[in-house]
Amino acid sequence: MIEVPTALGIPTLRTTLEPSPADPARGLVDRFGRRATDLRISLTDKCNLRCTYCMPAGGMDWLPKQDLLTTAEIRHLVRVGVDQLGVRELRLTGGEPLIRADLEEIVAGVREDHPDLPVSITTNAIGLARRAAGLKQAGLTRLNVSLDTLDPQTFRMLARRDRLADVLEGVEAAVDAGLTPVKLNAVLMRGVNDHEAPELLAWALERGLSLRFIEQMPLDADHGWTREGMITAQEIRDRLSTRFDLSPHPADRDGAPAELWDVRPLGAAEGTAEDNAEGTPGGTDAAPTDDVLGTVGIIASVTEPFCGDCKRTRITAEGEVRSCLFSHEEFSLRDLLREPLKNGESAQDRDTAIADRWLAAMWIKPAAHGMDHVGLDSADFVQPERSMSAIGG
Ligand code: SAM
Ligand code: SF4
Repeated sequence: MIEVPTALGIPTLRTTLEPSPADPARGLVDRFGRRATDLRISLTDKCNLRCTYCMPAGGMDWLPKQDLLTTAEIRHLVRVGVDQLGVRELRLTGGEPLIRADLEEIVAGVREDHPDLPVSITTNAIGLARRAAGLKQAGLTRLNVSLDTLDPQTFRMLARRDRLADVLEGVEAAVDAGLTPVKLNAVLMRGVNDHEAPELLAWALERGLSLRFIEQMPLDADHGWTREGMITAQEIRDRLSTRFDLSPHPADRDGAPAELWDVRPLGAAEGTAEDNAEGTPGGTDAAPTDDVLGTVGIIASVTEPFCGDCKRTRITAEGEVRSCLFSHEEFSLRDLLREPLKNGESAQDRDTAIADRWLAAMWIKPAAHGMDHVGLDSADFVQPERSMSAIGG
């Protein structure tokens, strides 16, 4: 049994990690047969917004700079993940990844090591207008931008900063730079921006952007989440249905967190079916695809969880592996990166040790996050100590 120091921010806990029976050749598998191929690395816990569902208005203790993974350390971990553990996709997140001045260098480095690896970022897009072209040149594949509202006043209330114009400029720059498909993430808050759902979707569709609504999860630093306050996936569909017809998108979800819906103008689905019945041989069997405006995604992490198909493995900004957003345990890979090689130990041996710790941390991934349809009063669920910005969303 290995004793591993575990940092959950403050305080630091100590926990033990059993060597896992997982086989590196099979990748980052867990006890329930899931295989994690999608790596999310947080680049920083800092952010220039203070979204109410994520961060407190003030008083966050930032990680000291020397605790953050360096560019070289990030490249090193991605190499171990891709070359030894079957990682097939990388997302850089935070906090706000654009806060890192070396983001372009990180992307270019990873791209040099892995020419075919899809590399994306999740960003609030502040400052993206200046950096989108450079990120594309560095080898970024595409990006996700968080956009919860199109109203400057609502933005100020939700993000506690007056920066909507910067975000919109950033989205435009990303499209111009060819960082496509640009995906938008929106969290709806009851009585704040939930009425805007159809307008946000219309705005995204007009621009060919792919919008996904995310149910608010209990990962806010203020621990203010309530089930009543959360806009559920069903409510999101209801709000969108006031302006659009939604029907399940035919493609296989393949473990993706978002359930996709085809979007048509209100009433168009029946209209098309009737037209088909009159005008085409085969009649009503013909699929009414011609008037699809696009798709919308709904990520129902709370009410329709998809833990059974989860493919994610996460590394925090200071190099701790988390098997789940809602984990209470973390295991440091940074310690192994920084510890001097022991007598007789080769760099390859050390990489094997890193891979073993990563495998062992993922092997004990919980079956599910413990929030069920009934509610979070269940004894199974305890909100993690870290908030979303400190974990890496
Ligand atoms: N700062 C970047 C951004 O906002 O896109 C990246 C980090 S942020 C933590 C990643 C994503 O997590 C964002 O799309 C954000 O909306 C989402 N998020 C943050 N807190 C959340 C919560 N409590 N529930 C659901 N999604 C949340
Ligand atoms: Fe910052 Fe993203 Fe959290 Fe908003 S959601 S406070 S932009 S880290």
